[in-house]
Amino acid sequence: MKLFDLTGRVALVTGGNGGIGLGMAEGLAQAGAAVMIAGRNKAKNETAVAALQKLGAKAAAIEVDVTKEADCRAMVDAAVAKFGGLQILVNNAGTNIRKPPEEVSLQEWRTVLDTNLTSAFMASQAAFPAMTKAGFGKVISIGSMMSIFAAPYSPAYAASKAGIVQFTKSMATAWAKHNIQANAVLPGWIDTELTRGARRQVEGLHERVLARTPAARWGDPRDFAGTAVFLASAASDFVTGAAIAVDGGYSTLG
Ligand code: NDP
Repeated sequence: MKLFDLTGRVALVTGGNGGIGLGMAEGLAQAGAAVMIAGRNKAKNETAVAALQKLGAKAAAIEVDVTKEADCRAMVDAAVAKFGGLQILVNNAGTNIRKPPEEVSLQEWRTVLDTNLTSAFMASQAAFPAMTKAGFGKVISIGSMMSIFAAPYSPAYAASKAGIVQFTKSMATAWAKHNIQANAVLPGWIDTELTRGARRQVEGLHERVLARTPAARWGDPRDFAGTAVFLASAASDFVTGAAIAVDGGYSTLG
């Protein structure tokens, strides 16, 4: 359907070499976008590019650390140089360090904030000129259930993900006049490398998630393909500043 067609559009997905980022990248690729993957791990990058190319998409990857401003600029430049522009940015790279507030070191706090929140600021700012040049843009940033709910064991993560929602609203309001829409996606509990670690560290987490999620399952990265396409396409041109839960109903239970 034309409303959801991304032919001729270029997307940059941070952390797009696995998990939710790859799920989104695959959706964007299937809708016709050219995709630049940005991640630290070269082997994962290469595997992801091969998977996207298998879907018939134009795809490439760049090795970056999104906590570094120069790398954020370099990944935008690489997308523009390789594919001729950039209209879609997915701020997805993320990490977590699970400790109660009294045990988190300043360095650990900074690592989580820099990876999850400051990276989104730097990447969005770097992408802004390409989007204004194109005459439109879509910024999709990944929050979390911890954008809404607290967790005793993830204070830095919760702060970063709440920040994503407010930063998204700032971009949405500031950049509306440039025809750039900025929205956040709040995943529920999704089966990825990140949460495999959580399941090992937090006793009973697996069962609690199943019991509380109305859909009665963990999410799959592929559950994010459709939301990514919606938020990257003309179908969402009047949707901005929103935080959309993709959580199997988890957040409806309060
Ligand atoms: P993964 O661990 O599978 O993916 C994280 C991605 O981020 C990897 O591709 C990793 O790439 C990349 N990344 C991490 N740090 C950096 C860095 N400094 N520079 C560049 N890339 C980096 O986890 P998920 O797919 O689960 O997480 C994706 C996003 O979704 C995160 O923002 C996470 O907080 C969020 N989320 C996940 C939930 C879940 O249940 N899984 C729930 C709510 C939110 P590389 O290995 O190459 O560094």
